[in-house]
Amino acid sequence: MNWSRNHERCTSCKTTLFKHKGNGLCAKCYPIDREIKKMKSLNEKKLDIYIIKNIFIPDIPKLKSKDVRTQKEIIQKEIEFKKLRYLRQYGCIESGDIVVNIVLLENILNDIRGRIIKNNDNL
Ligand SMILES: [Zn+2]
Repeated sequence: MNWSRNHERCTSCKTTLFKHKGNGLCAKCYPIDREIKKMKSLNEKKLDIYIIKNIFIPDIPKLKSKDVRTQKEIIQKEIEFKKLRYLRQYGCIESGDIVVNIVLLENILNDIRGRIIKNNDNL
């Protein structure tokens, strides 16, 4: 194991981009994991305050219509989506779960480049 004593890569984002911080988590994922654990330990009243302070949930009345456990699961997914989406996508590539087609990627980038050049000519 190169990354940490017990883990080949971060157990959350599956990358080796950041140093191991603790519990199999990297320096990026560790504080997010702590935030989620803290949020999950809140009682309903304190969870309401947390939701108000963290306004990234678009439909609060809909969220509040669910039981507390479901609310916490939705909030956890939102936190992970907001803070870890791209890092986890990178982790899928680094760990080989997703194979990136470099030739296709180059064609897409060339196409975008072509459109930018074409648009600049029109100005
Ligand atoms: Zn991580």
